[in-house]
Amino acid sequence: MIDETHDPGLRSWVESANRAGCEFPIQNLPLGVFRLKGEKQARCGVAIGDFILDASGWLSSETLNGYMALPASDRRQLRLEWSRILRAGSPERELLPQTGAEMLLPARIGDYSDFYASIHHATNVGRMFRPENPLFPNYKHVPIAYHGRSSSVFASGTAIKRPSGQRGQGDFGPTRELDYEVEIGAFVGPGNAPGEPIPISEARQHIVGVCLVNDWSARDIQRWEYQPLGPFLSKSFATSISPWVITTEALEPFREEAATHETDPLPYLQESQAGAFNIMVEAWLLGRGMRQPVRLSRSSFREMYWTLPQMLTHHTSNGCPARPGDLIASGTISGPEKENRGCLLELTEKGKEPVRLPDGEERVFLEDGDQIVLRGHCKRDAFVSIGLGCCAGTIVAAG
Ligand code: CA
Repeated sequence: MIDETHDPGLRSWVESANRAGCEFPIQNLPLGVFRLKGEKQARCGVAIGDFILDASGWLSSETLNGYMALPASDRRQLRLEWSRILRAGSPERELLPQTGAEMLLPARIGDYSDFYASIHHATNVGRMFRPENPLFPNYKHVPIAYHGRSSSVFASGTAIKRPSGQRGQGDFGPTRELDYEVEIGAFVGPGNAPGEPIPISEARQHIVGVCLVNDWSARDIQRWEYQPLGPFLSKSFATSISPWVITTEALEPFREEAATHETDPLPYLQESQAGAFNIMVEAWLLGRGMRQPVRLSRSSFREMYWTLPQMLTHHTSNGCPARPGDLIASGTISGPEKENRGCLLELTEKGKEPVRLPDGEERVFLEDGDQIVLRGHCKRDAFVSIGLGCCAGTIVAAG
C-alpha cells in the first residue's frame, strides 16, 4: 500500500538524508541492530541519511525478533511514526552517527534456508554439468531449496576464513575454488503454527523485509559432496548479510509483476497480486593490490522465476513452522546476459574463462585478501530511490 511515507516530496530535517543518491532517505527507514563503540548493550535503530535514530524507545530488545513478530499493521504504524518524527518541520532530536556504530546481525536467526529461484542461474549452472538437459524437469513446478546453517550467518564486515574440506577423493585441504553468490534474503514475520501453512494470499504480510546475502561457496568441495542430497559443507562455513533490513513497506513502490511462467504454478503458488521486487543488485571485487573496486556483475531481482511470497508459501506448505527472524535467501540472482551472472562459477564458465581486471590481474576464483562487496538499489520514476546498504566480506587464509 502506497501511503504518505512514500511521498517523493517528503524531506527530512536530517540534511544527509536529502542528498541526491543517499541510500537511506526518509522514504526508506530501514531497521538494524547496532552497538556504540565502548558499549556492551546492543540497540535497535532506524537508519536516516548518515545517522541512526535510536529506536530503543519503541523496541527495547537487542534484536529485531520482537518487531518481526508484530502484525504487518503494527509494523506499518511504526514506520508512519518514525517518518513523521524525522520529516522536515518536526522537532530535531539527538541522532547517532553511523560511523560510531558497529552493526550487528539484525535478528537472532533461528533457521536459514537457501532457494534456487533464478532460472537463469539454474540454467547456466545446469548447462555446465548437463549440457543436453540443463534444467531438471521439476524446476518450473517446485521452488527448489535446501536447509542452510544459521550458526554461520555473519554480519557484513566479518572476515571469511578460507574453508578446508574434501576437494575430491582422498584430497582434504583448503578450497581452491572459493566463490561468492549474490542473493537477496527475506526475514520472516509472525510466521505459522505447526501444521498450518501460510496461504499465498497472506505470505506478503509474513515477509518483514530484505537484506543482501552473500552465500560463500567452495566449488571443489561442492562438486564432490553434492550428490545426492545437495550442498553441505561447501556452503555452511559462512554466509554474509547486510545489516539494514529494508522493510516490505519501503519496497512497496518497487513491487512489480513477476517474470512470466511457461507452466502455470499449482494453485497454492498462484499470486493474485504483483509479488516481485525490482531491486538491482551488484557485486564488486577489491583485490589486495587493486587501487579501486571493480564491478563483476549486476542483475535484477525482478527476473527471478519464483517470488519471495511463493518461496515462503512453499516452505510452509507441508506445515513446517516459520518463525519471526528466520531467514530465507533467494539463491544466486543471475539474468540473461553475461554481465548479469551473480557468481564466479558462471562468470568464468566453470573456471574456463578468467575474469580480466583493469590492472592486468585476473580471477578464476577468489584469492586470500579479496574483498567482495554486494550492493542493491531500487529506482522507479516518480519515487525516491532507496539503497540496501552493503554486504562486505574479505577472504583470509586457511589455517
Ligand atoms: Ca546459494
